[in-house]
Amino acid sequence: TGVITLPPFEGPGQTRDGHRVLLGANVGAPRDVARAVERGAEGVGLFRTEFCFLDRDTEPSIDEQVGAYREVFDGFAGQRVVVRTLDAGSDKPLPFLTNDDEPNPALGVRGLRTARRHPDVLERQVQAIARAAEGATADVWVMAPMVATAAEARDFVTLARGAGLATVGVMIETPAAGLTAVEVMREVDFVSLGTNDLAQYTMAADRQSGDLADLANPWQPALLRLIGMIGEASRDTSGTPVGVCGEAAADPDLACVLVGLGVTSLSMAARAITRVGARLGDVELVACRRAAEAAVSAADPAEAKAAARAALG
Ligand code: PEP
Ligand code: MG
Repeated sequence: TGVITLPPFEGPGQTRDGHRVLLGANVGAPRDVARAVERGAEGVGLFRTEFCFLDRDTEPSIDEQVGAYREVFDGFAGQRVVVRTLDAGSDKPLPFLTNDDEPNPALGVRGLRTARRHPDVLERQVQAIARAAEGATADVWVMAPMVATAAEARDFVTLARGAGLATVGVMIETPAAGLTAVEVMREVDFVSLGTNDLAQYTMAADRQSGDLADLANPWQPALLRLIGMIGEASRDTSGTPVGVCGEAAADPDLACVLVGLGVTSLSMAARAITRVGARLGDVELVACRRAAEAAVSAADPAEAKAAARAALG
């Protein structure tokens, strides 16, 4: 009741003047694939692999992982699928991997950091992704979550390339990774901004706290400035691809601002693709850049949004 189903997105994602921005879907498990395809996704910008195994208290076998990953790859023949290695911990605990005795789990051993205690789990997962990618026609990219330093990025790239994966990146979702984006980008083929966590850590505001939602808001000028710095780092490293796969990408006006800040692809819940694609197709790249400039110098999220909308027209 009251739900309006928009027609599927008919790509490609681009501004009115033809600046390409790939619009992908976020998927959590093979069951999400059909919906993403039906909504017109140009591939997958974030495959949250931990969602395949949330209820498990033992590690899934390599064969079982290969099966789950292959199902997703097969849904996107000829398209890009960006696989994220397990982002366990904090808001996504996995009983077989994470400890529940940390006082500050959002600042604790989560994401790539779980490989400090259990390097073998990450090694097996990377092998499983590589095996699933063999023979698949999807263009499989792999990335690690919760990276804070260029050294962590380098270690992950070494591991993933060693397993035979060709295109390797990291998520930028800590301010540390954002502030050292040039050094991080020198290690990788691409980065993807997890704006949910990047907002949480930039604003020091728990993403799960309703009381702090005004602070963890992706329109916060502080967050937008940091994203702008990452966009500059991309230009300074001869065009390292910069995706956004957090909720921010699903807001049509904010999506245009992100493009103006230098973001080159957007990935979102499948249901958002039609609206974001339509908004982007309605504006020129220069307007996105003007909107970005206006938003970063605003005083607060409401002002940033109003200024961006005025600039977008
Ligand atoms: C993010 O942090 O924005 C993100 C895309 O990852 P997740 O929401 O799964 O932490
Ligand atoms: Mg995240």
